[in-house]
Amino acid sequence: MTAVAVSRPVSFEVLTPPPANASTRARFGRLTLPHGVVETPQFMPVGTNATVKALDPDDLEAAGASIVLANTYHLYLRPGHERIRKLGGLNGFMSWDRPILTDSGGFQVVSLADWRKIDDDGATFRSHIDGSTHRLTPESAIEVQEALGADVAVAFDHPVYPSSKRRVVQDATERTHRWAERSLAAHRLEDQALFGVIQGGLEPDLREASTRFIAGLPFDGLNIGGLAGDETPIQRRDAIDTVVGLLADDPRPRYLMGLGSPADLLDAVDQGIDLFDSVLPSRVARTAQVWVPGGRLNLRKAEFLDDPAPLEDGCPCLACRRFSRAYIAHLFRARELLAYRLATCHNLTFTLDFMARIRTAIAAGNLPESLDALRLRAGRSIPGEAAGDPA
Ligand SMILES: [Zn+2]
Repeated sequence: MTAVAVSRPVSFEVLTPPPANASTRARFGRLTLPHGVVETPQFMPVGTNATVKALDPDDLEAAGASIVLANTYHLYLRPGHERIRKLGGLNGFMSWDRPILTDSGGFQVVSLADWRKIDDDGATFRSHIDGSTHRLTPESAIEVQEALGADVAVAFDHPVYPSSKRRVVQDATERTHRWAERSLAAHRLEDQALFGVIQGGLEPDLREASTRFIAGLPFDGLNIGGLAGDETPIQRRDAIDTVVGLLADDPRPRYLMGLGSPADLLDAVDQGIDLFDSVLPSRVARTAQVWVPGGRLNLRKAEFLDDPAPLEDGCPCLACRRFSRAYIAHLFRARELLAYRLATCHNLTFTLDFMARIRTAIAAGNLPESLDALRLRAGRSIPGEAAGDPA
């Protein structure tokens, strides 16, 4: 497919393209945004309410985060995008001086609102917070994101669960295309990139048509939506294969929304995905589980109450530098707030370090040879755990 010229001040360079022998589609790249440079493949921690739960910006930097995601739907409802604009935009408001991406809000409207009605013009929904009625259209979703002022905004889309009936997927995909054009027409902010969303569910022909349509528009990046839900790993692999195969050497970043377990991230990078986001590292941490090489520890188990070792030997995170498994296991049992911060610091450090290891292997040209060792470190993903959870 031919590349589309993009005029906004955002650039993506593929520094190490996939090898000619097609042993992997992984690529090492550099995404330059108004608030800084993001090396890819990269994982974006999710700051639902303009905070990654339990962490402050220093924790995030220490964990190695170079970009975070914030949720348009949540911030529109509370505290309100105009309030955030007046307080200096999201970067100023949350005191984070590195890049931010805001999502379109479409996923939360579909998955979180108490009630919603979607028509061709937009979506009417009832707030999950206070039951008040709201309406988002492609134009107003862009207006909200321009007020929030993130480095990257996303075109309003109509997501559906991967297992939805074909008629439902087709309808939502065609609507997403019309909304993509309207989002582009509405977007004015010059120092903000705009990404478009490819839908199409698990239907190969719809996924292909959506890839061609969205990639044919002058977006700065291409999101792959409607995955990381209830699909099987093979269905996900096939859908990614369809998209990335068609995009070929399209120079824009490819962002698979909602994927977060290390094993899943590795497989998707190998298939040519550059960007990810998920609440998984934080959500898993809040259930007293921490990722370590080869799997995860459940700190609720009694055996950890007497364990003086750190969560992971050699890990540079706050939890591992200063505290024992015994102490953190105790904090979880006592429901102390520090437990959530420490476990989240660790899981994000593990995830972001894992992505750095993947980038190093790609840049060195030996990702295919490194896959076994990386898979061993990642442990197994838990079926269904990737399923989209809005918060
Ligand atoms: Zn650690």
